[in-house]
Amino acid sequence: MPAEYGVSAGVLDATAAVVVGLFGLLIGSFLNVVVWRVPRGESIVSPPSACPRCGHQIRARDNVPVLSWLVLRGRCRDCGEPIARRYPLVEAGTGLAFALATWLVGLSWTLPAVLYLVAVGIALALIDLDVHRLPDAIVLPSYLVAGALLALASWNPGGVSDWPALLRAAIGAAVLFVVYFAIVLVYPAGMGFGDVKLAGVLGMYLGWFGWGALAFGWFAAFLLGGAFAIGLLVTRRANRKSGVPFGPWMILGAFAGVVAGGPVLGWYLTLL
Ligand SMILES: [Zn+2]
Repeated sequence: MPAEYGVSAGVLDATAAVVVGLFGLLIGSFLNVVVWRVPRGESIVSPPSACPRCGHQIRARDNVPVLSWLVLRGRCRDCGEPIARRYPLVEAGTGLAFALATWLVGLSWTLPAVLYLVAVGIALALIDLDVHRLPDAIVLPSYLVAGALLALASWNPGGVSDWPALLRAAIGAAVLFVVYFAIVLVYPAGMGFGDVKLAGVLGMYLGWFGWGALAFGWFAAFLLGGAFAIGLLVTRRANRKSGVPFGPWMILGAFAGVVAGGPVLGWYLTLL
């Protein structure tokens, strides 16, 4: 935020974070639909949401993110069927993540790209946890959408353009795609080609934010995923054959890389 905004800058940033956070609640509600329907090959626009038990269509007033679940005390208005706690949690989590992203990035041309990463990241992480898949229907269009949004962020209309960032994004996408592809070739049991395709999208973002973000995001994914897998093996909740989804860790690592990649690399370089 430029200095000429003066004392009102903090208020403006906070207001923006709240407004975008509320928008995030609605996006979270939509992500619940995406996470349920896309792996089943169903349309995300029709038919309207209905209770899986009694088939009654969800009324508009019962479809308000988080609040409706609380008012209904987690049950269908018509038949009393319990509504999973995950729905309001995904809505609240997406709202919080949108608010936090806005607070970190500010109202800028970078924000749409970051919000898309948050939304698609939450949807893919949940689907991967549910069904151990990263659907092409979400991952492949993301190359185009993320590419366009990052181009907009580089252009930065009305401000200083940063085209080298877009070149870094292309290199980041290629590097992570090739690295994950090599891993799958060498050790196919560890992860799948879905992870490779996702790596390209995440590499695009990390590269855009800088080499530090790319290195940190990649490292963080393996650190988090590795620690989780070892934890499962140690507590015997998984054996070497029961696959552990890696997508959620790649996505968490990318979030960490975008947020902390630059500063952490700077700190590390001062140690050398
Ligand atoms: Zn019902």
